Amino acid sequence: MPRSLISITEARRRVLDATTPLATEPVALDDALGRVLAQDVQAAGDVPPFPCSAMDGYAVVAGDPGRTLQIVGESRAGTPAGRRLAEGEAIRISTGAAIPPGATAVIPQENVELDGSDAIHTNDAVNPGEHIRGAGEDMRAHTVVLSAGTRLGPVALGAAAAAGVGSVIVTRRPRVSVLCTGDELRAPGEALGPGEIHNSNAPMLTGLARRAGAVAAPAGRLPDDRDATTDGIGAAVAESDVVIISGGVSVGPHDHVKPALDALGVQEVFWSVALQPGKPTWFGVPAQGLPLVFGLPGNPVSAVVTFSLFVAPALAALQGAPSPVPPRPTAVMGIEVARNPRRDQMIRVRLEDNGDGVRAYPNRAQGSHILTSLLGADALALIPAGDGIVASGTEVALHALAA
Ligand code: AMP
Ligand code: MG
Repeated sequence: MPRSLISITEARRRVLDATTPLATEPVALDDALGRVLAQDVQAAGDVPPFPCSAMDGYAVVAGDPGRTLQIVGESRAGTPAGRRLAEGEAIRISTGAAIPPGATAVIPQENVELDGSDAIHTNDAVNPGEHIRGAGEDMRAHTVVLSAGTRLGPVALGAAAAAGVGSVIVTRRPRVSVLCTGDELRAPGEALGPGEIHNSNAPMLTGLARRAGAVAAPAGRLPDDRDATTDGIGAAVAESDVVIISGGVSVGPHDHVKPALDALGVQEVFWSVALQPGKPTWFGVPAQGLPLVFGLPGNPVSAVVTFSLFVAPALAALQGAPSPVPPRPTAVMGIEVARNPRRDQMIRVRLEDNGDGVRAYPNRAQGSHILTSLLGADALALIPAGDGIVASGTEVALHALAA
């Protein structure tokens, strides 16, 4: 009887069920790019911290047009005027400089006429508060500026700095080991012997893991040999939060990954997903819960598709990022696509928007060995299992392609 395949959704559910966030650690802002906050960031004080000028000009008391005001000092960014302002006076002020006590408005310098070197003449009426930025207009003291679960991009780091924070509590980066199995694999740049191919999964899978926030050493390579496979995976299991193995996970005479994992006590959670490409995907965990071990098919497209669907959400969840499965947008197929009777297909598509909605077009040939179908692809489009075709114009769900 053929083994039943589990659905993509069920496979991902089982991966996420096995995944809990890693421990937390403090990091300086300068080292926090790409990390995921484990604690909210609150503003230490008001931002701006004090009322300040929105313009280069003169701090004054609001009032009628046609006044002549004596210039009695200057408030520069970082150096307040150090004196009170009275009626009939003006203090020269720069953008961002503190409003002197007593001043209630700022006149932009282009709106005054200089009257000698120490007085200005105002032509227009000046309303209270004009060109003044209030304290706390951007952030109020003690309010949450960034929530736990936020992945820190450059702007979030800027917001944390503005909020008065020098370091943040983030989730530890997952330590990922990538192992590529196959006697046929040569390192990038090496000359090929008969029957050999270059190891394209090595830079792809380490790159995908790093981009997903993990720390990953260069990929290891394992020959198609039972003992070497067991030893290599065993070493990775001992030092990793996630182990990603490519190839050797089927049932051919030279596929040693499953027996090696069995010997190492890594318990299978699933093997075989109703997915094309990516059917022989294996996932398991040892009794102690970590590392998460993924056996991805060796074909490069299958490896990237299964990384996108199963490994990327796990890496996000390990880092405490909420909703590792974002809401899925949709597109309309631009041409018809044949369905697979038993497996959902994840085709690599280019998205085009010609003003009448987003259309998806298969990006080159869709074989699982056509690595170039990933180049320039925008997303994965789900073609549900079934008979016949998905006609041009049919709405399809899109999934994020890790790339
Ligand atoms: P396997 O899953 O080991 O049966 O491999 C399936 C196909 O993927 C075979 O054509 C392999 O040569 C190819 N393959 C396996 N590993 C890699 C890799 N690291 N880089 C490129 N191709 C690979
Ligand atoms: Mg192989």
